[in-house]
Amino acid sequence: MGVFLFDEMIFGPVYSRRLGVSLGINLLPTHRKVCSFNCIYCECGWTDNQHSEENRLPDTTTFSTALKEKLKALQGTDNEPDSLTFAGNGEPTLHPSFPEIMQETLALRDAFAPNAKVSVLSNGSMLHKRAVVDALLQADYCLMKLDGGTEEVISAINMPAKAFSLETYIKQLQSFNGQLIIQSLFLRGSHRGKEIDNTKPEEVAAWVSRLQQISPGKVMVYAIERDTPAEGLEKISLEELEKIAGEARKAGFITEVFA
Ligand code: SF4
Repeated sequence: MGVFLFDEMIFGPVYSRRLGVSLGINLLPTHRKVCSFNCIYCECGWTDNQHSEENRLPDTTTFSTALKEKLKALQGTDNEPDSLTFAGNGEPTLHPSFPEIMQETLALRDAFAPNAKVSVLSNGSMLHKRAVVDALLQADYCLMKLDGGTEEVISAINMPAKAFSLETYIKQLQSFNGQLIIQSLFLRGSHRGKEIDNTKPEEVAAWVSRLQQISPGKVMVYAIERDTPAEGLEKISLEELEKIAGEARKAGFITEVFA
């Protein structure tokens, strides 16, 4: 299996299926993944949080200097970014200075790339921290993960490191008052001898009912794009994704499909 890791703190710009020309921000180590989830489809490979001494994270000053240099270099080129995107080798909100780094990013965006949006791809595992929620609410786009409508399916697909309560997560997402995008990956397969399939009609119905509780501004559904750490997972076809998106649209949600 190929593991896809970003080897820089600021990477790209790359073309993103969801965000256009995207300048990536990786607040995590450049040689390994650090995450609070262990998704069976994660393109960065399996999570291994054992080597904490190797997990030195960039400080705010180092980050600001690098982002400023990069944005200045991109000014006036064909690669001016549509999005400054927090993504990278794991969960960006795990960085202890994420709130300050968000402030720096917004200020640098305003100064050097005023047309770019600031986007965050997050698994939502740090929403118990008020400062993280406040920082996320200042981003233009918060793309929050929701890969199913039941704790059983989410636990099987995302394998959170800590006890996960879907009811708590839904309440946390409700506090965004619709100022968020739900991102959901659909797949079929098996892992550790257990069948996993969030495309079944009853699973899709449970997922839609969760969307109704959250009332997101938009929903994005997508399929596996690169190699996955779990073997034998099935990439869902565009037709199937469209069918799933149709269920969300029937419930009134603006829904985009990325196959
Ligand atoms: S939340 Fe994202 S980075 Fe973490 S394991 Fe899942 S896909 Fe990978």
